[in-house]
Amino acid sequence: NDTKPVDLNEGLDSTLVLVRNIYPSNLQVIKNYDNLPKVECLPGKINQVFMNLISNAIYAIKNKPEQRDEEFLTITTKNLGDRVAVSIKDSGTGMTEEVKNKIFEPFFTTKSVGEGTGLGLSIVFRIIETHKGTIEVLSTINVGTEFIITLPVNA
Ligand code: ADP
Ligand code: MG
Repeated sequence: NDTKPVDLNEGLDSTLVLVRNIYPSNLQVIKNYDNLPKVECLPGKINQVFMNLISNAIYAIKNKPEQRDEEFLTITTKNLGDRVAVSIKDSGTGMTEEVKNKIFEPFFTTKSVGEGTGLGLSIVFRIIETHKGTIEVLSTINVGTEFIITLPVNA
């Protein structure tokens, strides 16, 4: 369980390659990458965080009943000096306040059996916690959701 210096922009890109095949055809992926210092972290765990957040975002877009001509997944990274921030924002279903308050609980899901276990975000939360990071969620029903994580450059 050794940490390594990781380029998070590269980690995000490799995650996007892995999920490319599940993009809906109206999806626009927008990348706003800052020049980032390498972050000392567990690369496998951080990629798992990206995978969970990005899969949830794509699901939320695909399951929006009224599809727009273009839906958006916007990934932004920011160099904050001793920390880096990553924002994963979708134009998906959004969440009610009630749902938002439970998303980090293990086994909480609004998806049907086979579509979700409800474990993704509880794992994300634990991984971010182990890295002394922060995670924040902003969501508006029918507009979309944004997850913002920050990680210290040197854990
Ligand atoms: P799962 O994806 O298996 O349901 P998660 O822990 O990843 O479990 O997410 C828990 C719940 O949080 C989801 O069922 C969904 O209701 C909500 N959620 C997570 N990400 C998003 C998102 N980007 N947009 C809307 N709802 C979301
Ligand atoms: Mg999930």
